[in-house]
Amino acid sequence: MDKISAGYDQLTRFWLDTAPARGVVARLDESLASALKHHDYPPAVVSLLKQLAGAAVLLASNLKQSAQVILQAQGTGEVPLLCVEATDELTFRVYASVREGAVLPEAANITTLVAPDGKGRFVLTIAPSNGQMYQGIVALQSSSETSDGSIAALLEDYLSNSQQTETRMWLREDGDVMEAMLMERLPDRSEDAATPAWNTVTAQADAIFKEHFMPFPYSEWLQFSFAGHDVKVHPSQPVSFACSCSIERVLNALKLVGEDELKSLIVENGKIETRCEFCGKGYEVSAIQFSELFHGVEASYLPGSRTIQ
Ligand SMILES: [Zn+2]
Repeated sequence: MDKISAGYDQLTRFWLDTAPARGVVARLDESLASALKHHDYPPAVVSLLKQLAGAAVLLASNLKQSAQVILQAQGTGEVPLLCVEATDELTFRVYASVREGAVLPEAANITTLVAPDGKGRFVLTIAPSNGQMYQGIVALQSSSETSDGSIAALLEDYLSNSQQTETRMWLREDGDVMEAMLMERLPDRSEDAATPAWNTVTAQADAIFKEHFMPFPYSEWLQFSFAGHDVKVHPSQPVSFACSCSIERVLNALKLVGEDELKSLIVENGKIETRCEFCGKGYEVSAIQFSELFHGVEASYLPGSRTIQ
């Protein structure tokens, strides 16, 4: 049985014929294990990265062109950065920066870890392969009148405000599985009837997300979850971990750091060793590659022989 029929690592868009709502739901399991196996993060950080990954994949499914959704939480706490990137092809990768020696509580929300001083920010970036980048920024607050400080609540608020459409998000972690769902309220001609219908389906979603994860294909799970409604589904799409790092990207990054900053490493070691923050893959840049990057092949300060093969 393939992963989609088995109910794993998949995303499904759906709409309800009997309520003014459409949505997208995704389950991440082996893909998450693959994304996280390159890291050794504390459980609280793993939990937040899983939630961000679920949310990022949902948002990426809305991309209309080759692009990335990047979700970042930035602050000065024990975890100064959480970063998840997802692509329009529903691949994703995760990274966190954790201060050395940090002791974190097992259950902590994003603000406690990233910005306990209340001065952090949550950044949502849409980066197309070609074209203008879009960025939305929200202050990281532990809780407010309308929000409990969770990642789902933070994104619900942000999306409802920026798109002027009532939006709900659910994120459920159950063992190694992350299940994520987003629902948007659609305009309806008969507003009076529409409000109860929207409230009914979101209450059904609230209830189902309190239960344990059920490994059914979404074609079955959605009809079961929204009992009494007519649910239409698009074919499920696979979700997977993938890292887009390459030697070209490493060289570009080194170029941004600049020759003066890096020259001593080359003189000392004859090479620069670096590691992809997302997947842990090691890259080695030789003195010759370094010289080519900044000067073509004519650098004069390189150590050792000048024999370029
Ligand atoms: Zn990588």
